[in-house]
Amino acid sequence: MPDLKSLIRQIPDFPKPGILFYDITTLMQDASGWRSVIDQVTAHYKSAPIDVVLGIEARGFFFAPTLAYALNTGFIPVRKPGKLPHKTAAMEYALEYGTDKLEIHADAVQPGQRVLIFDDVLATGGTAQAVAKLVEKIGGTVAGLGFVLELDFLKGRSKLDGYDVFSLLHY
Ligand code: AMP
Repeated sequence: MPDLKSLIRQIPDFPKPGILFYDITTLMQDASGWRSVIDQVTAHYKSAPIDVVLGIEARGFFFAPTLAYALNTGFIPVRKPGKLPHKTAAMEYALEYGTDKLEIHADAVQPGQRVLIFDDVLATGGTAQAVAKLVEKIGGTVAGLGFVLELDFLKGRSKLDGYDVFSLLHY
């Protein structure tokens, strides 16, 4: 099995000084690494009752649709404001400085549908928390939140209390 951590490139001071950026493009471009990520995450969720997989623009779009295919479910995109053409629901959330906003189609889930939220990195947890609330706002149930990698020292998991949280790799 490939050593996935050795395939993730670490870039100091990107996008700003003091941030160590985990670059998953080097993992994705490695055929056995990519396959291993999707296979391991699929195996983890294989017997979980998941109706649909949700991905967050932009890096979540790399993983979530492939996972949806492997789990034999549909895929729902959560996008930056102004990109989705039909009626949307929105959630604003705090960043280090200021706020950001994400949108979902208001009719993207059926009442009670079990949604797996999947993203590349769990950092402070602000994005994942906002998306979980967004899913609930439109009537879905959060079946779980999954990540390729989690930055344990940022304690993002504490913002996701009560949810099933899974990360393939921990730093
Ligand atoms: P957060 O809301 O802080 O959990 O972070 C949200 C998103 O920002 C993650 O899904 C990543 O796409 C990205 N991100 C945050 N910190 C990092 C990092 N150190 N390296 C790579 N991506 C990051």
